[in-house]
Amino acid sequence: MIAVIKKGTSDKQLENLTSWLRAQGLDIHLSRGSTHTIVGLVGDTSKIDAELLESLEIVESVKRISEPFKSANRKFHPDDTVINVGNTSVGGDIFAIIAGPCSVESEEQVLSIAHSVKAAGATMLRGGAFKPRTSPYDFQGLKADGIDYLIKAKKETGLPIVTEIMNANHLELFEDVDVIQVGARNMQNFELLKELGRTKKTILLKRGLANTLKELLMSAEYIMAGGNENIILCERGIRTFDTYTRNTLDLSAVPMLKELSHLPVVVDPSHATGLSRLVKPMALAATAAGAHGLMIEVHNDPKHALCDGAQSLTPEAFADVCASVKRVLDVI
Ligand code: PEP
Ligand code: MN
Repeated sequence: MIAVIKKGTSDKQLENLTSWLRAQGLDIHLSRGSTHTIVGLVGDTSKIDAELLESLEIVESVKRISEPFKSANRKFHPDDTVINVGNTSVGGDIFAIIAGPCSVESEEQVLSIAHSVKAAGATMLRGGAFKPRTSPYDFQGLKADGIDYLIKAKKETGLPIVTEIMNANHLELFEDVDVIQVGARNMQNFELLKELGRTKKTILLKRGLANTLKELLMSAEYIMAGGNENIILCERGIRTFDTYTRNTLDLSAVPMLKELSHLPVVVDPSHATGLSRLVKPMALAATAAGAHGLMIEVHNDPKHALCDGAQSLTPEAFADVCASVKRVLDVI
């Protein structure tokens, strides 16, 4: 349920209303937009008398929200959410380019890639330290050492770092990580989501291989229900019957998620296609579709990458993608 507040309402009047609602066991989500202040009511609103609420002097209108996701809902927060990450931001008019290797393989590797992607225009550095691999015999990541190398790369380049968590027990290792990624396979690991909701870290939440947009938004809601509203949604392709590409990039997810939610939406064309030659066209298409950013895998030596070499761009190819993305952004 949302209550739209009349213009000219004082802070004191608003505070009286929100404390009255909180006393009825509801959580309050306040959005002070450019035109309106909106009070979002989260929890069991069945006992709230909408007509009584609407009759209050400071309330312009009251609406029930039918979607099961509330805090993530654009009706709760009409303006785009802009999330500050280190010295950069994502959301609204601010476009993020997150780039780096699938996995951190060594200190030299991640430092070299960090410098090249920064020079090309990346705004954040990615790299997996804990890797969710289909086979238990494949490289599982450098774990804590991998995070240390990313932190070193952040110190050298100033780029905020993004890396995946697979187990809430590892949270203390992520203290200096700027954005914690929840991978596709963990999108519905509800215990992990609840734990991340208790932090203030920015979470990059990837869509599951076979999950609907509503399920993605409900997973965001799990994190938000714990008090953490810093979430970036990521479309990374879903599983369909086609086999030429690793997944099928659902580009309509971008405008649809932007309609439904105020959270930033980024696209990962690397995991979506699995093929480096398809990364550029899909990155440009995602940009044109209105994404707030891209996440792209870049490797200094893709042929010898320990993970996802086939979809990784060389630093030179990545620089070319960045230049073209900038041209698309100028046009739109
Ligand atoms: C990744 O970003 O390296 C990754 C494993 O992605 P996803 O969870 O989308 O497969
Ligand atoms: Mn990967």
